[in-house]
Amino acid sequence: GNGAQVPVLVIGTGYGGSVAALRLAQAGINVHMVEMGQDWATVAPGSDGKIHPKITSPDHRAFWMRTRTKQPLSNFLGFPIDKNITKHAGILDAEDFAGISVYQGRGVGGGSLVNGGMAVTPKRENFGTILPSVDAAEMYSTYYPRANAALGVGSIDPDWFERTSYYQYSRVGRKHAQRSGFAWTFVPDVYDWNYMMAEDNGSVPKSALAQEVIYGNNHGKKTLPKTYLAQAAATGKVTISSLHRATSVRPAAAGGYDVVLEQINTAGDVVATKTVNAGKVFFAAGSVGTSKLLVKLKATGALPALNGEVGQGWGDNGNVMVGRANHMWDATGDVQSTIPCSGIDNWDAGGAFAEVAPLPAGLETYASFYLAITKTQRRAAFSYNSTTGKVDLSWQTAWKQDSISMAKTIFDKINRTEGTIYRTDLFGASKIWGDHLTYHPLGGAVLNKATDNYGRLHGYSGLYVIDGSLVPGNTSVNPFVTITALAERNIERIIATDL
Ligand code: FAD
Repeated sequence: GNGAQVPVLVIGTGYGGSVAALRLAQAGINVHMVEMGQDWATVAPGSDGKIHPKITSPDHRAFWMRTRTKQPLSNFLGFPIDKNITKHAGILDAEDFAGISVYQGRGVGGGSLVNGGMAVTPKRENFGTILPSVDAAEMYSTYYPRANAALGVGSIDPDWFERTSYYQYSRVGRKHAQRSGFAWTFVPDVYDWNYMMAEDNGSVPKSALAQEVIYGNNHGKKTLPKTYLAQAAATGKVTISSLHRATSVRPAAAGGYDVVLEQINTAGDVVATKTVNAGKVFFAAGSVGTSKLLVKLKATGALPALNGEVGQGWGDNGNVMVGRANHMWDATGDVQSTIPCSGIDNWDAGGAFAEVAPLPAGLETYASFYLAITKTQRRAAFSYNSTTGKVDLSWQTAWKQDSISMAKTIFDKINRTEGTIYRTDLFGASKIWGDHLTYHPLGGAVLNKATDNYGRLHGYSGLYVIDGSLVPGNTSVNPFVTITALAERNIERIIATDL
């Protein structure tokens, strides 16, 4: 409530925030978390009897405060598929900046609610370029294993993979990759693979096998509320206020920091404004959320001593999407698991790692679909716009051309080998490349630049960053395992020395 005093306040309940809350609580410290999205565990089911809709039928539950859906694949067979919806505190935010839409999870659990669960530890030889100031030996001996264990990362049963019709699309992806001489690998995931096999044999309600993923999974995925946040709650020392958005943090005369919170309803109206005092504040609002807050607080005089690195070093992890049109003999299946389980690795030679992704349309599409992560060097900056009172991002859509070129090192070759072409009907108006978005925002408060080497913000003691904004723009693979492992490393140090 207004006027409350807490030892530690964590802004955001995604990976970084959940690690901080659990480890602080285990060290005996009371933690309060604020989350602007809903606590989906307490939301009543919709008219379909489910909390989360399928990927093929997004409604108000699917999108954060939009009056029209913004589906990542905007078209099908050339036809636009977006539709009007009621503005609501839905689970997926397609946040529009001038040159890019940044997709993010909204709710207790952050991105874990909407992501594909692909849990990839980068190859050790690439780590030096991902986080150059971090000791790789420590990460690979201690913090990556700790993160993987706590997240519940597992691998698909290779025999079931060969049998199930739900991964025909991945087997076709493997065949095409290997016929062109590319390395193809399984990708670990936090989806419960035993549950998915039970879905396949019909003994449990279907989720991954019933087109659920980016608008939430009703079953099967080990999201943060089932892992880190469940453990945190069990300590009895962590409380969470959902539908509370942090808007300001400033030093308090009596010590600590005054944090202003707007409580909103599910239509987005502010129903109360509260100020709480916190001894220490962890920014864990995600790369975009944390960067926007810090840039605004520096520019508007709340935290003027933050350094000039705040808002810098933002990247899109080089995300681009593309579909290929297969021959009729390479059908990808009218049923497809929404959880990708494999990738094509051409990182060293071509700067691209491509997930073989589903296109769960519910009918045979004869399409192979991919989300590529590429080694782009492009980095954008956030800046405060005093005219609009908003934070802008300097990303330019044309920069994605670098990523497209890298992704083409894989798919041009596969098309040549197979005698196939790109799909032009998925992103609108004869557009081949999905170059308008990212699922993997990273950076904006980069480790050892905006903060010290453990996430302590320069200029203020007791303020920390502990989320994807620490990571300078690229992780070479899907990012959440690295975000989690880095948070584990940093919080251990902070608990040992600052508390
Ligand atoms: P987040 O998980 O984004 O958490 C930040 C939280 O803070 C959010 O819940 C947000 O609502 C809240 N917040 C923001 N601002 C405020 C504020 N002012 N006040 C209060 N609360 C606030 N990564 C992978 O590794 N593998 C995948 O398979 C994968 N698939 C993805 C698929 C999709 C569709 C998307 C969108 C992302 C995917 N990602 C994947 C990316 C991954 O989910 C993110 O990298 C990760 O969630 C980032 O963690 P974080 O702790 O930095 O922040």
